[in-house]
Formats: sequence, C-alpha cells, structure tokens
Amino acid sequence: MRGTSLQARLFISYVILVGIVIGVIAIGIVLSLTSSPILYRTITQRLRLASDVVALQLEDQPLVTLDSVYSYLYTVSAQTQLRVGLLTREEVILFDSGISLYPAFPDLDVPEERLSGYDLPVHTFRDEKGGVWFYTTKLLKGGYLVIVMATQRPEQVLRTIFREELGVTTVIAGFIAIVLALIFSFAMANWISKPLERLVAGAQSVASGKHNPLPLKGPREVRMLSQAFNDMSSRVFASQQSQKDFVTNVSHELKTPITSIQGYAQAILDGTVLGEESIEQAATIIFNEANRMHGMVMDLLTLAKLETGIADMQMSLLDLRVLLDHLLERFTVLAHQNQIELVSNYSNLAPVMGDGEQILRVFTNLLENALKYTPAGGRISVSALQSGNWIVVQFSDTGPGIPVEDRERIFERFYQVDASRRGGLSHGVGLGLAIAREIVLSHGGMIRVESELGKGSIFSVELPVCSEVSTVNG
Ligand code: ADP
Repeated sequence: MRGTSLQARLFISYVILVGIVIGVIAIGIVLSLTSSPILYRTITQRLRLASDVVALQLEDQPLVTLDSVYSYLYTVSAQTQLRVGLLTREEVILFDSGISLYPAFPDLDVPEERLSGYDLPVHTFRDEKGGVWFYTTKLLKGGYLVIVMATQRPEQVLRTIFREELGVTTVIAGFIAIVLALIFSFAMANWISKPLERLVAGAQSVASGKHNPLPLKGPREVRMLSQAFNDMSSRVFASQQSQKDFVTNVSHELKTPITSIQGYAQAILDGTVLGEESIEQAATIIFNEANRMHGMVMDLLTLAKLETGIADMQMSLLDLRVLLDHLLERFTVLAHQNQIELVSNYSNLAPVMGDGEQILRVFTNLLENALKYTPAGGRISVSALQSGNWIVVQFSDTGPGIPVEDRERIFERFYQVDASRRGGLSHGVGLGLAIAREIVLSHGGMIRVESELGKGSIFSVELPVCSEVSTVNG
C-alpha cells in the first residue's frame, strides 16, 4: 500500500467496505432463516399435522387396495411438500414418495404406541448423501403399519430453493450489485482525490517557477489548503522579487560612482586632466564618489544588522529634549543658508530607553529629508510631546508632499518617490527611511507619515516612555 495512490487506496477501501457490508447482510439473512425458532416450530407442526390427517384418513375410511393407498400418499406428498413413507412395524419399507430423488430411509425410530397431535416426537436422520432430515413416525391403529412424514433441514430447504428458484436471479442481482458497487467506489475515490490532484498539479507548476495562484475550488479543507499554499507562495515570490530588486538596486547605485571614479582616475593617469587645479577637482570627485559608496555600503550593513536583530544597541535612559537641542544646533545654519525657517516646540519630556546614537540618526535623517525637500522660503517645525505612554516627535515641512501611493513604500529599501527630484552629490539612495524604520521598530516604537501634496509632510516618531522611571517619578 505504500506506493499506491490515494485514489487506489480509497477505491480498495470502498470495495472492502461494500464487500464486508454485503457479507454481513448475507450471513445475517442465512442465520436468521436457518436458526429461526419460528421455522422449526412450523416444520414440527406441519409434520405432526400431516401425520394425524393421513392416519385418520387411512384408519377411518380404509382404502381398498394397496395401489389406492399409495396413490393417496403420493397426493399427500405433492400437496404438503413432505416426504411420505409407509413402513411395517418391522421397518420394511412399503412406500416412499421420495425414493426417486433421495437415498432410501435408514433405520428410523418406530414408536411403541399410537400417539397423536402434540405428543408426536420429531426425530432427525442423516441419509447416505449427508442430507439431514426431520421426521415423525406414527403407528396406525392395529399396530402393524407406520406412517413416516419427513422434511429436509431448513438450510437444505433454503439451498434447494436457491438452487431451483432464486439461483439465477440471485446471481444476476449479486452481479449487478457488485458492478454498481465498483462503479460507485471508483466515482467516490475520484470525487475525493480529484481536488487533491488539482492541488498537486498547481503546486508542481509553482515549484517549476510559475506564479499561478491555485483555484479556490473543491471541499473546504482543500480550499483552505489552497489558500494557505497561495499565501505561502506569494510570500516566497515577494521575497524572491525583493532579493532581485535588492541586487538590481545595489548594482545600479554602485555603477554610477564606479564609472565616475574610473573615468576620472583614467583621465588623471593618461594625462587628459592637466594642471594642479583640474587634477585636484578630479581627485575631489573621486573622493566624494568613494565616500558615497562607502556610505551606502555602511548603510546596507547597518540595515542588515537591524533587520536580523544583531545590531549592537547601547541602551540607556534618554532625554529626547537634549537630543533634539543637539540636532537643531547642527542644522540651524544649513536651514538659514537654504532660507528655510526652522522652529521647535517641545519642553520637558519623560525619558525613553534607547540607543542615543541610533535615535539621533533617525531624527537627523528626518530633518535632513525635510531640509532637502523643502524649497527656499519654506518652514520646518520640530515638535515633541507626551501622549499617554508615548513620546511623539514630529518633523513637519512645507515641501512638495508625498503621493498617497508612495506613503507606505518610502520606508522600503531603495524606494524613492521621484528619482529626478534628487540632485547633486548629496542625494541619497533611498535607504535613510528604511534604516529609520528599523531603528524605531527595534525600540518598540512606530514611525509614520502624513502628507498633503503641494502643502508638506509630517513625519512622526513614537517611542514608549520608560515605564519604570515614569512610575518612580509619577
Ligand atoms: P533618500 O536618500 O532618497 O532621501 P529616504 O529613505 O530618506 O531616501 O527617503 C525615501 C524617499 O521618501 C525620498 O526619496 C523622497 O522621495 C521621499 N521623502 C522623504 N522625506 C520626504 C519629505 N520630507 N518630503 C517629501 N518627500 C520625502
């Protein structure tokens, strides 16, 4: 059974089941017929009654000749379906209605006295062919002659009935029943195994690289399995896609600086760039591009560490106000140069537990982005407040805003809303927000963006207040 298909197993099980049911029913019928007490009582009554009637007939209206006696006994036998015999007291057989069909009577129990009705004992004998018979013997008046009434045992009667009357019908009916059972078993096995076969075919096509979702058809369990399989395969495909995108993005982002470095280095080597000033310019470009590459590689490493949870976090109690003061101090000049108004709005804040450097990195990235995307004359506001057990830090700007469809995606690796918008050597590669999100998540916090196109964006970072300290203080 190990290598057999599910369909074959189901088919075999149904056939066995149908076989068992038919067998049990047949055995039940035979047993109930053969061992039925009613049947035995009927036989006994028939034998006794027939003996009494024949005895009365022979005693009250004696038939004149032996021939007329024998013909009367034949008639009785034909009408009662019993084997009728006439013996002398010494058991000499004078007449036997069944002599042409069955072996002769063996030694029979002959009664000592004339009994009638219910007193008549019923005996059995076995003939030479092994047939078992029930019989009664009744002594006639005068004590010379004995009437024998015999009938075969019920199962033999049944066998005869089957052989002679029901045989062919039973065989045909049995044959039809078996054929129907086989067809039914096959259909049932098919019905159950077909949806699974479809599932297997679907799974094989997915395994061979095609991304066709399995149809949600068939029984509930199969539909649930298909659904689970579809979910799993779309995740696998998404992860494969993200890996491919990652490699494409990394190669793409490295190609530009490498080409640029190669070009300028080549120009210096083959003397195309002449003069100290030009060489210095070329060297500066090489240096900047190399720096950019270095920055990107470091960002990728950081992201990988954060994503796999192996980033080295230096956790301590942080006063976010101090961090924000430090941040604003660093960027005030730049904002001023870009003619952007930088305002702040926060007071004392409950401490949070975190890695100061990493949190500062998040804030720096958000403020840098705000500065990068806010045009001259714009306004950036940095605010922080406590809301329940959370400290919410917000960076709002009056930049171009972010289209709805990009709002969730900007936190993905390498995702940039509009690549043409980034300009100059300082442009990023779309890793900043991905890193920021991982850092915030690893602090048990959340980062989200609200934005209105043409009006600006608000980036909010929510970090949990350190509960131990807040309860001590509170
Ligand atoms: P990048 O290095 O491109 O700045 P980020 O991950 O920091 O990468 O940001 C991803 C993208 O989100 C940016 O390319 C930009 O399109 C969009 N974005 C981020 N901050 C802002 C903002 N304040 N205003 C408008 N768009 C923004």
